[in-house]
Amino acid sequence: MTELQQRLAAIQARIESACQQANRSSDEVTLIVVTKNHDHSLVLDLLDAGVRDFGENRNQEAEPKAQAVLADSTVARADYRWHFIGQLQTNKVKNVLTYADLLHSLDRQSLLDTLVKELGKQERTLDVFIQLNLTDNPERGGIHPSDLVAFAEQVMKVDKLKLRGVMGVGSLEGEAERDFETIWQASQVVRGLAPAATAISAGMSEDFEIAIQHGATHLRIGTAITGKRQY
Ligand SMILES: *Cc1c(COP(=O)(O)O)cnc(C)c1O
Repeated sequence: MTELQQRLAAIQARIESACQQANRSSDEVTLIVVTKNHDHSLVLDLLDAGVRDFGENRNQEAEPKAQAVLADSTVARADYRWHFIGQLQTNKVKNVLTYADLLHSLDRQSLLDTLVKELGKQERTLDVFIQLNLTDNPERGGIHPSDLVAFAEQVMKVDKLKLRGVMGVGSLEGEAERDFETIWQASQVVRGLAPAATAISAGMSEDFEIAIQHGATHLRIGTAITGKRQY
């Protein structure tokens, strides 16, 4: 086993045991390996190791990487997914739609409007998560829980968007429990409106076990698997 495969296996084992402790099946948890700051050869190695979900947070880096993976991988494009997880500028939407299968960071009305416009010209649909702002700082991006119902209703009106659930980034200051509880509550609210929107994107290298306890279905794990950033 390579070091990468060992780190991957170790995280998969920790996910498995966290699920057991939470009385959940690991079948309901998707591991997204965040490959930002690593070049496309790491994605190829992860594909070889069986990973099928990849996360990126900057189009400038992700778009050429996705193209290089497409050119070099023997895995069929339909068999793996790119998750765009970072803040998305409206002028990059068109580019991101060339490779992203899911968007975790639908965080504001102007982004929704741009998605409607761009998807209107295409045959495809896009799976989306509404990103929550878990702080009191409106500058941080994301939908404040008090605005969630109104925003989710806007998203649900768009046929080409498939609302999967909610997404949040837990604070790093020891408040992860509180934040994941807030995300869980928000998820319940969204499910009340859209019963199929059961997904919760939460949990990173430092806090994924806590996120699993709080119902996370999509873990976004980078450094614990990929090692130190290359770029
Ligand atoms: C980078 C990133 C992650 C992964 O972070 P790690 O600490 O490396 O696991 C998860 N989510 C988002 C939004 C990120 O930008």
